[in-house]
Amino acid sequence: MVTRRADAWQTAPWRQALAESFTQIDPLLESLGLDRTDIPALDPNPRAFRCLVPRGFAALMRPGDPRDPLLRQVLPLRVEHARVPGYRMDPLDENSVDHGQGLLLKYPARALLIATGACAIHCRYCFRRHFDYARLGTIEARHRFAIARVARDPSIAEIILSGGDPLMLDDDQLGALIERLGAIAHLRRLRVHTRLPVVLPSRITESLCEHLVGSDLAPILVVHVNHPGELGVEAEQALRRLRRAGITLLNQSVLLRGVNDDDRTLQRLSERLFECGTLPYYLHQLDPVQGAAHFQVGDSCATRLLEGLRARLPGYLVPRLVREVPGAGSKRPLGGMDARSETPIDECPSAFFFP
Ligand SMILES: *Cc1c(COP(=O)(O)O)cnc(C)c1O
Ligand code: SF4
Repeated sequence: MVTRRADAWQTAPWRQALAESFTQIDPLLESLGLDRTDIPALDPNPRAFRCLVPRGFAALMRPGDPRDPLLRQVLPLRVEHARVPGYRMDPLDENSVDHGQGLLLKYPARALLIATGACAIHCRYCFRRHFDYARLGTIEARHRFAIARVARDPSIAEIILSGGDPLMLDDDQLGALIERLGAIAHLRRLRVHTRLPVVLPSRITESLCEHLVGSDLAPILVVHVNHPGELGVEAEQALRRLRRAGITLLNQSVLLRGVNDDDRTLQRLSERLFECGTLPYYLHQLDPVQGAAHFQVGDSCATRLLEGLRARLPGYLVPRLVREVPGAGSKRPLGGMDARSETPIDECPSAFFFP
């Protein structure tokens, strides 16, 4: 029995797709008709946070373009090793709010569980890129702890599965977790923060959808898309499957220099998300994590971009521009309607450059 389950686990199409991902930079560049000489700033051997890119995601990049906005998100650069003041290993002080075993109780009524440390892609700007997932103990122990902790706190109405990427758990693990969370009477909503519908759309199977809607909890899935080019045909189909199953779909993006720091791109992203049944939720200002400073967009520029979006889109397609401030009681909004930005629009660096 055990063997049969292990086999099924390993031969799931999405597991195979994951196993075929690019883990070295040269074959990825080669698939795009590029080589190291096209990108002098490249770090060909990133040690601490390795290169990881699913083939399907790479296939959405423009061949021959070293400035491609999807490539930019996963391309290791030497500048990541630079020490920039204010950029830290743990930018959100998560170690200080971690109540043990990866359950973060930072905001009222919500608990966030680092369900697994694994991801299907390594985004260079990730705020948890230095997170020591190993110290959280085994996945089983972590899940057991979270279920017990949430069960004895009636103020918690929503559980957020995060990571890593919680959909990297296999169906059995995820199904068992959701079933046990669903049995907690005061818990109302199940939220999943994931990038897999866009970076590994084959993960979104009918059986996964059944697990997500299979408890008494109202299911919400917050996907992570930064650029409209990430929403190819397969991602669209994956999101449609989730919608058909009755799951509320939202998106969060990170504002990234050289990727999505112009209002036309952000406009197209919102429109494309809507076509895929997904509403924009958050546009995050970059968390100051060591190694990601080259992605930073200034606040006045960010505010300008948002004004541009407000001028062109219906209100429900304008994401909330926010920054996470350690110790604050919620994500902090930037650029309200009355916010004045003093920076002229032409000071917003939208052109890509290699630092
Ligand atoms: C972002 C976050 C949440 C969710 O915040 P919302 O504003 O409800 O989306 C909850 N817990 C933690 C630890 C978070 O970082
Ligand atoms: S998928 Fe999310 S958690 Fe994983 S590397 Fe990317 S941003 Fe970080």
